[in-house]
Amino acid sequence: MTDATVRFGLLVSMFQAMLRDRAAVKKRKRFRTFLDRVYTGREYFSAIRLILPGLDRERGTYGLKESALAACLVDALGLAKDSPDALRLINWRKGGARSGANAGNFALVAAEVLQCRQGMVSGGLTIKELNDMLDQLASTENKGEKAAVLSSLIKKTNALEMKWILMIILKDLKLGISEKSIFHEFHLDAEDLFNVTCDLKLVCEKLRDRTQRQKKQDIEVGKPVRPQLAMRVSDAMNAWKKLHGKNVVVECKFDGDRIQIHKNGEEIHYFSRNFLDHTEYAHGMSNIIIQNVLVDRCILDGEMLVWDTSAQRFAEFGSNQEIAKAAREGLESYRQVNYVVSFDFLNFCNMSFLLLLLSSLTDPDVAFDILYVGDTSVIHQSLMERHSLMQKVVRPLKGRLEILVPNGEPCWSVLANSVEDVERFFKGTVENRDEGIVLKDLGSKWEPSDRSGKWLKLKPDYIHAGSDLDVLIIGGYFGSGRRGGEVSQFLVGLAELSETAGYLKSGLADEELNSLVAKLKPYFRKNEYPKSAPHCYVVTNNSKERPDVWIESPDKSVILSINSDIRTVKSEVFMAPYGLRFPRITQVRYDKPWHDCLDLQYFINAPQSLSMD
Ligand code: ATP
Repeated sequence: MTDATVRFGLLVSMFQAMLRDRAAVKKRKRFRTFLDRVYTGREYFSAIRLILPGLDRERGTYGLKESALAACLVDALGLAKDSPDALRLINWRKGGARSGANAGNFALVAAEVLQCRQGMVSGGLTIKELNDMLDQLASTENKGEKAAVLSSLIKKTNALEMKWILMIILKDLKLGISEKSIFHEFHLDAEDLFNVTCDLKLVCEKLRDRTQRQKKQDIEVGKPVRPQLAMRVSDAMNAWKKLHGKNVVVECKFDGDRIQIHKNGEEIHYFSRNFLDHTEYAHGMSNIIIQNVLVDRCILDGEMLVWDTSAQRFAEFGSNQEIAKAAREGLESYRQVNYVVSFDFLNFCNMSFLLLLLSSLTDPDVAFDILYVGDTSVIHQSLMERHSLMQKVVRPLKGRLEILVPNGEPCWSVLANSVEDVERFFKGTVENRDEGIVLKDLGSKWEPSDRSGKWLKLKPDYIHAGSDLDVLIIGGYFGSGRRGGEVSQFLVGLAELSETAGYLKSGLADEELNSLVAKLKPYFRKNEYPKSAPHCYVVTNNSKERPDVWIESPDKSVILSINSDIRTVKSEVFMAPYGLRFPRITQVRYDKPWHDCLDLQYFINAPQSLSMD
């Protein structure tokens, strides 16, 4: 049977059965049976792209997250905006009288709304028809046209099928089977081929004969590669033990966007970790890459960062893409976006090294590795060899494109001979308020998607426990999934000036979170202040950031003691000048009166005054 004859309903039956199966082996077997006995026409891509929608790059994006999808469904079903069903869809996180149990799961809430309209009879939609309609949905920006496509889908499906279609659109099927298992059941070489091409269509077509093994394919210029990853370690000693007997380089962990730069003559691509081509970097970087990467074809692996020209250092976390866009639009800024091509060279004729590329508003890049040079992949060479390759191939450009050279100036990486060397470098990054360090085995190859411990990361995530910050809960956000319909994150403020500082994922155990939410619930105000804050809070005007509920006044609230990254983040969303980074609740302080919480001045000084162990 082909995709033009296999009904989508068959795939849905498999999904439903997989949900019931507890054991992963059973889920895998179902998928194998589907491929072996049902989907025999071998148009595998048509079906597999529906099972792994997050890996499908053929269709582009739908531009539909839950809230936009809710609005389109309201139109597709011709619901009045204030009708109970429309409100259920729009307020899918909050739940309500009828959708309490499903609150927080958009597809389930939508299936309930659809149930009484569609019933259980399927319209016989085939896999091919569904793909054609999803293509239409992705190809239009127009909300009305999107609603029209959804309306046609509703006519051809039942509520159960629509539920799965919505999950496909949201790119999360929650089937409890890993992408690795899907690939493995499809073909033993599928995962490896996907890792070096990030092209699901190519994988499905090239491996159509599911029993025929393929030679391992190497990386290619123009095709994004899944990056080498770092394993987390708890401290320097642990890291040192793991790399026992190896030659180790310790590098600064830069905090920008991981980008792979593919140069093919004058054609330059900037692939992110989810294999999207970020063309917004071209304006600033492409000329520099063309001129300063001395080979025609090359892949660099690195980090895109913002270079603050006035402070002569990398700016703190965030804002790369906005700055790159501003640069493209010709706006002036004191900051520059840089590319640190500093981890690895992926493709070059047998060379590699650690390289750090910086760039400016007009040239945004930093690189740390080289993966491909000339006509050859160099990922099989050692990191030490890649480093020296990188030094030959990349001509650094001060403040624009730099390579990570151990013990260079500024010192972004060092060769470590002892755990003390690692600790010293780590301490330096903490003092410098950098994100942390990455330790690398200089003898290691670069392996797509590998997190086995060739690279280790160590981060000073939290401030010393004795330096907790006491902040006041002033609002709450409803959660999704298990915590749908219940507050699961908090907006916190500084008491004296009622300045907002940032939001907090609770991190509390369920029981503790439930009793905190129960205590605050009588003071939640949803409807009185749908958009504007109660007047006792000062919230920045240009921010659209609003919690789902406000606490009606600070004196009804509770203080939380929190730990946060020692480096707070400049906040353009909240009134307080800094937001919190990686905050974590250490204690709920029912014992403290609300006005005992932190004041703004202390908070401003906190990043400087807080110390690490
Ligand atoms: P994290 O949130 O800690 O960055 P992650 O899951 O995004 O984790 P990991 O593989 O765990 O990624 O950590 C490595 C990441 O650190 C890389 O993807 C890259 O973006 C970033 N990075 C910054 N500096 C370096 C460096 N010198 N070498 C390698 N990776 C670096």
